[in-house]
Amino acid sequence: MFTREVSLHVRAEASLERLHARIRVCTRCVDAGLLKHARPIVAGSILDRIAIVGQAPGAVELSTGQPFSGRSGAELRRWLARAGIDEDHLPYRTAITKCFPGKSAAGGGDRRPSPAEIGLCAPWLQEELALLRPRVILLVGGLAIERFWGKMSLEVAVGTSRRIEGVTYIALPHPSGASRWLNDARHRLLLTRALAKVSRAVRTLDNGASEQRIRDERPTHGRR
Ligand code: SF4
Repeated sequence: MFTREVSLHVRAEASLERLHARIRVCTRCVDAGLLKHARPIVAGSILDRIAIVGQAPGAVELSTGQPFSGRSGAELRRWLARAGIDEDHLPYRTAITKCFPGKSAAGGGDRRPSPAEIGLCAPWLQEELALLRPRVILLVGGLAIERFWGKMSLEVAVGTSRRIEGVTYIALPHPSGASRWLNDARHRLLLTRALAKVSRAVRTLDNGASEQRIRDERPTHGRR
């Protein structure tokens, strides 16, 4: 039984790596005239039980090739640390669109990906989640929240969670310094509430993993 599980796991890991390889050469938005350059960015392993879905990579991510590696990413990692997820155990990291969309023409941060870009990139996210089957999905920012829960204000979404088909979704605001949302003390309270939910979800996953380990290590009397 154990050997079968290992072989299933190895196959799933290989499938995820193949999917990442296909995503990294995607040029759909360039072909459609929506982006000048494509450099899709995604990271994570099949072992990840938590997935973070953000909006899109930023300029720093474009140079490092790692999701959430810029200033916003550093802030997000600080939030995750508050919830008990340390730097060495970062979850699966992906986004609604996987290429840097460029700066907003109006200034004040990165351009929000257009509906056409979101539509072209959506099948990738679907395939990632179908393979990974995460137990917890952190929705980072309005665009990710809208993709899974429909259009709603951050005030309504942040600090709440939903359980859909065995997956816990938790809404977080975007950690971008360009966003003024967290300047409001009531919004910071909502963030604290959301991180408490992340922390609870992490503990539940850890407890489940320990119980599974105990079951796996339990002597199998009478079984050969
Ligand atoms: S944003 Fe998504 S669909 Fe568009 S080119 Fe990048 S990976 Fe492909």
